[in-house]
Amino acid sequence: MNKKNWIVKAAGTAFALSLCLTMYAQKEYPKPEGMRPGMSEYWTPQPPVVTPGDPATLSAPSDAIVLFDGKNLSAWESVKGGEAKWEVSDGKFTVVRGTGDIRTKDTFESFQLHIEWRMPENITGESQGRGNSGVFLQGMYEIQILDCYENETYVNGQTGSVYKQTPPLVNAMRKPGEWNVYDIIYTAPIFKEDGTYLYPPRVTVIQNGIVLQNNTTILGTTEYIGFPQVKPHGAGPIKLQDHGDPVQFRNIWLRKL
Ligand code: MG
Repeated sequence: MNKKNWIVKAAGTAFALSLCLTMYAQKEYPKPEGMRPGMSEYWTPQPPVVTPGDPATLSAPSDAIVLFDGKNLSAWESVKGGEAKWEVSDGKFTVVRGTGDIRTKDTFESFQLHIEWRMPENITGESQGRGNSGVFLQGMYEIQILDCYENETYVNGQTGSVYKQTPPLVNAMRKPGEWNVYDIIYTAPIFKEDGTYLYPPRVTVIQNGIVLQNNTTILGTTEYIGFPQVKPHGAGPIKLQDHGDPVQFRNIWLRKL
């Protein structure tokens, strides 16, 4: 190729290239539509309507399972077998020493539990020997109940502890004779085939409106002697502990989650 032909060919190529670029630049593609507020909203399904309970009359939310309405222990049974033998009077029930733990006849997976409890005004004893009871989640994991009003004990055994595992964030006790309120949100564990946790149980505990446990991981069973053990289980009851102390309960309801 001589020099003249080369210049002509190069000029032609440059022209064609610039023409392509110009056409590309001029081509208009459709632009995505701008976001409007309604594009990120959805309206169905609507959450079910639940009528809240009334603390003044100790009524439960409309979708709750009432476990004690002040009248009888028909929702409960003795862990030793037979009827629950704790004493019902004046809209409350009281632990009867030596009759053993009681548990709900129904069993549950994840739930929201409301339970009110108090110590009698004349409670005596010290440390773990004063107003001891407990709420066992799925019958396995104890959230401690203890008279911790001006009563020192080991911190992972205080009221609101995951017993012998995790102390409460604070001490929110009311005096003996006054009602304490527990609201407990519990997520049941999921197990692997080998019996260990795929997802361990978790718990949030609120006492008298104050957070004691904030989505705390439960490590296993809450042993008095020894460390937590992981034991596979399915749905389980709410169990209340007879620790020999006259702890009183009222207004117990549960919502399945
Ligand atoms: Mg206890």
